[in-house]
Amino acid sequence: MDDVAAWKQIEGWREDPSSVAILTDIDGTLAPIVPTPDLSEVPGELLGLLRELSGKYLLVAGISGRKTQDAFDLIGLDEVVYFGNHGFEILRDGEVEVIPDALPFLERVKELESRAKEELAPLGAFVEEKGITASIHYRNAPPEVGERCVAFVKAEGERLGLRITVGRGVVEARPPIRADKGTAVRALVEEYRPRKAMFLGDDTTDLDAFRELVALRKEGTLEEILRVGVRSDEGPPEIVAEADIVAEDVEGVGEVLRVLAR
Ligand SMILES: [Mg+2]
Repeated sequence: MDDVAAWKQIEGWREDPSSVAILTDIDGTLAPIVPTPDLSEVPGELLGLLRELSGKYLLVAGISGRKTQDAFDLIGLDEVVYFGNHGFEILRDGEVEVIPDALPFLERVKELESRAKEELAPLGAFVEEKGITASIHYRNAPPEVGERCVAFVKAEGERLGLRITVGRGVVEARPPIRADKGTAVRALVEEYRPRKAMFLGDDTTDLDAFRELVALRKEGTLEEILRVGVRSDEGPPEIVAEADIVAEDVEGVGEVLRVLAR
């Protein structure tokens, strides 16, 4: 679909807002990227638009890799639904729910956290309890403590049947099931039953959402989809290549939202 057709499609969606879901990434899409994530902010004008859209359209949802509560804090609107924590949790009406497939692993994640607090925290590691996932940070600890953290969490993860990933200064445990922005998009579409859905994103993890929209349209669950990609130096080229509409920055995302709200 070319750009002109995509904008026309948005105008068509305005005629029937109760059949439309607006799904969006937050950091880099609604909130400009800043040096430290704590300083991220969604501009006031976009918050106003999101509030207006959530009153008009079937669903407005923010989907983020951040902790679910952090996703809520960035937007702060009760009318919006939040999917966070790598697609494992959903927050609405003030309640956090773990997705059903992950729920059986909650106790095991908590067991790993409490074992890590006994064994690793005294060595200088920081155990971040994130609910259905756990992060053990060792960036500020000596290298041998980092090695000990990785070895310990890997062994415990294997014993408990959890997936372990090692990042920069952090080792994380999560349920061994697929959960990402694509599964979050599918869960929302299957629950709210829109006939049309859009996703707005800027980064690699957003491609899962773009591709799930395509799959949902192919199988007939959705009639129309729109992918809005935000161009940036750090984002992958596919975000622009696969998008129906390319926004040059957060202001460009605002333009899409303004047309929807008009
Ligand atoms: Mg982003």
